[in-house]
Amino acid sequence: MLMQFASLGSGSKGNATLVRAADTAVLIDCGFSVKETLQRMARLAFEPSQLSAILVTHEHGDHAKGVMALSRKLNVPVFMSAGTAIALDCMADPRVQTIDLHTPFRLGDLHIEPVAVPHDAREACQFVLGYESHRLGILTDLGHITPHVVNLYQQVDALILEANHDPELLAEGPYPPSLKRRVGGALGHLSNRQSAELLQQIDLARVQKVIISHISEQNNDLALAKATLASVMPGHEDKLQFNCQDAGFDWCQIQPL
Ligand SMILES: [Zn+2]
Ligand SMILES: [Zn+2]
Repeated sequence: MLMQFASLGSGSKGNATLVRAADTAVLIDCGFSVKETLQRMARLAFEPSQLSAILVTHEHGDHAKGVMALSRKLNVPVFMSAGTAIALDCMADPRVQTIDLHTPFRLGDLHIEPVAVPHDAREACQFVLGYESHRLGILTDLGHITPHVVNLYQQVDALILEANHDPELLAEGPYPPSLKRRVGGALGHLSNRQSAELLQQIDLARVQKVIISHISEQNNDLALAKATLASVMPGHEDKLQFNCQDAGFDWCQIQPL
């Protein structure tokens, strides 16, 4: 079996990504209620009893809302930073295992590399997941691209990448000034332009798919995001795909070269 991944949905109303390889399946974040999560898993023909663990990037509701309830319901362990566990007040839960953001670890057949990111949460991270020689990068919820991020995401076979907002649409949009500053700030979310800057630094010949995610429904425009990102991927534009708040995206797999 190859490394496969799918999204249950992505955006400010909830995020969750399934990744599986061989006998291991993990859910990265669960920003939906248990009921909604199980419905969305069924849509992907994913059997919940197959889930090995949940990985959590940070405590914001759109990533953590259903995490602890789902972990109890399916009796699976949850991996997160100590800061995230403190913020979620679940340090004492026997299913919670804290991780060090600078120490990769194995989870069944998967190699998990946590990546510390600048975001306005207690101890936020993102993940690069590996199976044999294949690597999938998940990168959302960060205010800017750091050298550490470039280093860890430069060589991936597939990338789920945030393009949250367009700065002009954000400035003109309905958010109150404090929220506009937060979203657009150094600890907020990546703009289309910032995502494009990351893409300019990764190995585009290696990457098979770039799936644009965590797109703001209020402060972005799909055509604009696509144009900005496609402009830095000459000859590789067909690798761009979009994630969606309601539908997520269906199973994709990393192809052996
Ligand atoms: Zn988020
Ligand atoms: Zn967040």
